[in-house]
Amino acid sequence: MIPCQSCGNDNPIGTRYCRRCGTKIEINQEQVVAAVQRDQADVASARWFERGRSALIIGMFFLTCALVLRYSIVPPLPAADVPPVDFGGILPAELPRVEAKPEVKPAVKKP
Ligand SMILES: [Zn+2]
Repeated sequence: MIPCQSCGNDNPIGTRYCRRCGTKIEINQEQVVAAVQRDQADVASARWFERGRSALIIGMFFLTCALVLRYSIVPPLPAADVPPVDFGGILPAELPRVEAKPEVKPAVKKP
């Protein structure tokens, strides 16, 4: 980009008149070389930005695929009427019974 002398607008290389104010742009060869080098640096940074964006998109695609596979492989939840689980001897065969205490009724005095 080449800045205009009167208004400062950035014009593309090769422009003879400013795109904003119409002033004729007069530059020497050194300014053209510097502008070309700046433009090439801008192109290089834009290229790196494109690579980063592509890598991000590909990463998001693989992450989405991994999540879909992970949740499609998980077995479904068992139905509600499944028989009770056998704990395989962890618990004693018969649990000691706890006798329920008889209810104590309050004595009612009769007159
Ligand atoms: Zn201008």
